[in-house]
Amino acid sequence: MRALIIEDSAVDRRIVTKNLKEWGYKFSVTTNGKDGWEALQAENAPKLVIMDWMLPDTEGVELCRKIRKIQGKPYTYIMLVTARNQKRDMLRAMEAGADDYLVKPFNKLELKARLIAANRILDLQEKLIELGESLRFAATHDNLSGLWNRGQILDFLARELVRANRDDKPLGIVLADLDHFKKVNDTFGHLAGDAVLQEVSKRMQGNIRAYDGVGRYGGEEFLVVFPGCEYKIAMRRAEDLKRLVGEKPIMALGEKVNVTASLGVAIAEPGSDTSVESLLQKADQAMYAAKRKGRNRVEGSGKP
Ligand SMILES: [Mg+2]
Repeated sequence: MRALIIEDSAVDRRIVTKNLKEWGYKFSVTTNGKDGWEALQAENAPKLVIMDWMLPDTEGVELCRKIRKIQGKPYTYIMLVTARNQKRDMLRAMEAGADDYLVKPFNKLELKARLIAANRILDLQEKLIELGESLRFAATHDNLSGLWNRGQILDFLARELVRANRDDKPLGIVLADLDHFKKVNDTFGHLAGDAVLQEVSKRMQGNIRAYDGVGRYGGEEFLVVFPGCEYKIAMRRAEDLKRLVGEKPIMALGEKVNVTASLGVAIAEPGSDTSVESLLQKADQAMYAAKRKGRNRVEGSGKP
């Protein structure tokens, strides 16, 4: 655990740092409010602050208020240390956002006890953040493939389409549907079918740029979004995807499975104000054209 100590009195600083050192804490020290505030702006700033009330340039309670106004950062646990021993001072400190209040001179064990509580709160906070992240992941990703789920790839498409319209740039999408996938499930079983979907997802994910998006659109259907891609390039990228899916057999539960995909490409031309629905419809029609023309191929909706 790392702590930030904001204390202008050399004597009090020594008491706190000596004990923290003994208990295995890492810490940094500042002697006024301004430097303390700056230290807290750093990335990976300490989440535990032990702060004096009376500082040369500000009051600890003021700094508490300022810290509490910061949004979007992990929680900072503030322990206010002061010689003020009035009950109403303690109340003021807590109202300003302090988590704890320690009256000087304090006993070493008292400080140790309070730090145990601080660590417990900060641990809980960290677990809460992890939980939030895993919930967010579950809500936006497909369970089987690990790709974005349908909702997320459609959100991405909608956002990128707005951006493309605003910046007068093209945007390409590809709908890819695995050919005769039912046969894979019927022949090798659903678990092997799942393994095939996972491998296809991996191959697709590995072949897109950082600012592209790929999601599982339906059962064995994938939607890929290529921001900034004009028709010819999107067609070429779709050919790449087709080749990646079909060129090497997929090992699924010890079985060698050959799969291919039919892909449909559609483009939103710069300044065309194309809607998500009409773009998807065009890609869908192109994909069905690829199916009709024999599968394992790419068809485009054509340049409008
Ligand atoms: Mg002081």
